[in-house]
Order: sequence, then structure tokens, then C-alpha cells
Amino acid sequence: MIEAISFSVVVPVFNEEKVLPESYRRLTAVMEGLGEPYEIIFVNDGSSDRTMSILDELCERDRHIRIIDFAKNFGHQTAITAGMDYADGKAVVVIDADLQDPPELIPQMIQCWREGYDVVYGKRKERKGETFFKKMSAALFYRLMRKMTEVDIPVDTGDFRLIDRRVCDALKSIKERNRYIRGIISWLGFRQIGVEFDREERFAGETKYPLKKMLKFAFDAITSFSFKPLKLSSYLGLTLSFCSLIYLLFVIWQKLFTGNTVAGWASSMVISLFFNGVVLMMLGIAGEYIGRIYDETKGRPLYVVRRVRNFAVEKDCRGR
Ligand code: UDP
Ligand code: MG
Repeated sequence: MIEAISFSVVVPVFNEEKVLPESYRRLTAVMEGLGEPYEIIFVNDGSSDRTMSILDELCERDRHIRIIDFAKNFGHQTAITAGMDYADGKAVVVIDADLQDPPELIPQMIQCWREGYDVVYGKRKERKGETFFKKMSAALFYRLMRKMTEVDIPVDTGDFRLIDRRVCDALKSIKERNRYIRGIISWLGFRQIGVEFDREERFAGETKYPLKKMLKFAFDAITSFSFKPLKLSSYLGLTLSFCSLIYLLFVIWQKLFTGNTVAGWASSMVISLFFNGVVLMMLGIAGEYIGRIYDETKGRPLYVVRRVRNFAVEKDCRGR
């Protein structure tokens, strides 16, 4: 008989050869300490370094380790999604591989879960060893998200969290593609609570979130929970039309009463450049939404799995 798994830990990994042995060691120490059946699911998000062979080795000697090997890099949020799809535990913990989220916080999260909370998220008190730019952009992003969306998404929380089986199942029923998982979890409701921790420095290696990925992440987050950017275009359009109406009246007045109408090249240039800029920006915003609608309609699977290892039951390998 297969024993029922109490806890699943989902770890997305992308080129983490330098940190993997250490995160395995610390995670295992914590999970063993709990004295209940557990599994650690590593989702290899198309790594090009030695990550996969390290995972294979771990798999050989530890039956708690499971691997989902993606066919290519599908991104952090998708890797987490896959991990949750495959997780069997009564509670599922999502944690970064780089030890910026301390595994030692997991028992405390489990304690809150036992008290009846369905979602226990880690709340970052301090971010150590991160660049000024990263800290500032993160702080700005979380506050902007709060202003722009109707969903109450807690500020300064990452994906480091524990979710109950019911939340995990509810999450699986949500098929949207450009996903912002913490937003979706907040949107789901349930009983949620935060536990605070200091975010440590990355154990080794560099961030796998370059500016480009960060921007995509921010756009996904905002567009999937807010129509405010679209509303912004209408408001701005309206305000600008009103201003131009006033200017039009001024021009007519000038023509009729002063006869002084040729001079004005500079002002017309400024106005035309400004308006063109605004129009292009608004088109861009609309385009971001349309692009995402297009993405959803194609109905491709979220991710494609090359192979899985150590799962008790053979699972469907095609993603969703
Ligand atoms: N990650 C991933 N796919 C990606 C980028 C990142 O699976 O395309 C993983 C990465 O291995 C790490 C976690 O997501 O476990 C968070 O990434 P990182 O620590 O680089 O982000 P940061 O903490 O700098 O925001
Ligand atoms: Mg990190």
C-alpha cells in the first residue's frame, strides 16, 4: 500500500547547481524533523547546467524526492503550477531553491495550518543582499498592485507559502495562462494568515529574474487582476480631448480677432508629438491585453513535461 503523503514541498529550479545540494540538505533536515510522510517535488524548469544530473542523483538515493523535468524553460510561475498539479500532500509548501526563503519556517507554517488556516504565506520583513533597484522596484510593485486591483493581495509576500489541499485543488481548476499565482490564491479567499521572516541573501549563484522577466511578471500580475490601465486610456483620452477643445476655441479666437496665426510651429509640433506618444502608449496597453487574450484562446498546455521520476502513480506527462 502506498502511504498517504502529509506534506508536499514544491521547489522550482532553474540553473541552480550551486545551491541545490545545500537546499536539499536543509529542506530534508526540516521535513525529517516533522516525522510525517512527505515528498519534495523539484520542478526542473529547463536548466542548462548540471541541475538535472544533481536531481537524478538525489532521486537515486532518496525516495522522498520527485522530479518533474520540463521540456524547456516555461518560467517560475508555471513551474510552481506543475508542482502543485503533481503534489499529493494534504498541505503543499512552495519554496524557492536559493534558500532566500528559510525552510526552517515550514514547521511554523504547518502549525498555523493545523490551527485551521488554509493559506499561510511568508511575509518578508527585510530583504538582505538584494540590490537597491530590486528592493525599490519590489516595494513599488507590491504597492502599485494594491492600488490597482480589487483583490486584497498582501504586500511583500512572495510565493513562499503553505496551502491546504482544498486550495490546491481549487487552484488546479483555474486554467489561466499568464498567471500570477499569489494573486489567484488571494482571489480564492479561504482563511489566510502571514508569518514574518527575514529574507536572506541568495545562497549562491545569481538571480534568475532578470529585468525582462520581472517586467513580464509585473505585466501579468497587473493585467490579470486589473482593468485600470485600460480605464486610464479612457480617462486620459477624455481629459486630453477636453484640453484640445479649449485650445481649438483659442485658435479660432486668434484667427478671428488677432489675425496672428502663422507663428505657432513650435506649439503644434509639441502638441502633435505629445499626442502621438500618448496614443501609442495607449495602443500598447490595449495590445498587452489583446496579446494575453490571444494566448488564452490558443488553448495550448501550460507546460510540457519531458519526464517525471519517483512519482507513485504514473502521471499524465503532457501538462495541462
Ligand atoms: N526560477 C524558475 N524559472 C525561471 C526563473 C526562476 O524556476 O525562469 C526559480 C529559481 O530557480 C528559484 C525561484 O524560481 O528557485 C526564484 O528565482 P530567483 O531566486 O532567481 O528570483 P529572485 O529571488 O531573485 O526574485
Ligand atoms: Mg531568489
